Amino acid sequence: MSVELLGFNIDDLTFDKGIEKAKLLIDSAKVSQVITINPEMLQNAEKDSNFANIINNAEMVIPDGIGVEIGLKLSGYKVKRIPGVDFSKKLLKESAISSIPVAIIGAKEEVIVKAIENLKKEINGLNIVYYHNGYFSDDNKIYAELKQKSPKLILVALGSPKQEEFIYNAKNIINPALMIGIGGSLDVWSGYVKRAPKIFQILGLEWLYRTISQPSRFKRIFPTLPMFLIKVLTYKNKIL
Ligand code: UDP
Repeated sequence: MSVELLGFNIDDLTFDKGIEKAKLLIDSAKVSQVITINPEMLQNAEKDSNFANIINNAEMVIPDGIGVEIGLKLSGYKVKRIPGVDFSKKLLKESAISSIPVAIIGAKEEVIVKAIENLKKEINGLNIVYYHNGYFSDDNKIYAELKQKSPKLILVALGSPKQEEFIYNAKNIINPALMIGIGGSLDVWSGYVKRAPKIFQILGLEWLYRTISQPSRFKRIFPTLPMFLIKVLTYKNKIL
């Protein structure tokens, strides 16, 4: 089942049902794309038809963050947010159980190396068959390496919309796999960026913590939420 926000379909699933769906996609015979959507991305999609097309063609779009949850509520839907960083960690844990081959791409070299070291310590049996930092210019070289290693779960951290474009373009090239854009998750797993304290997470205020603790993001992110909610309200009134 899905719900609609600013004209885009978003999966209406609990965390566990989302994991079940992703596991089925990992086992399917095609390349699937999971997008963890937030207000900033939805607003970008309004201006960028290529990005909008990518979202419309994704096999799964999950509501990452309180902004999307509130936006959906204002549109009449009760859907709980699924933090992308938790969702992808759970996918890694599930993949380790059946030794599914995993690839991780993105972030600076020292960040991805440290993140993988930490993940391996935490997740028994994690089977990482390929990794690459996120600062490359030849996408085709990475696609060729992925094709050769055939991971079934591929995590991509290049920031948005770069990671979504990279995944979309991989669809006709690499072997069947589930690919998910994970934004800043490697920065968190490496320990280079601290996640918001639990209380911020429970209240859905991780974005506020992040924008305050990383002042460079403040100007970009802070006005996004109110602007986004105004858009949701006027969009709703437009179609009524
Ligand atoms: N990143 C990357 N290659 C790039 C741009 C970004 O690997 O060309 C990585 C960056 O190091 C970080 C992650 O993508 O680990 C998310 O970047 P950012 O915080 O800028 O993206 P956002 O979370 O704002 O979408």
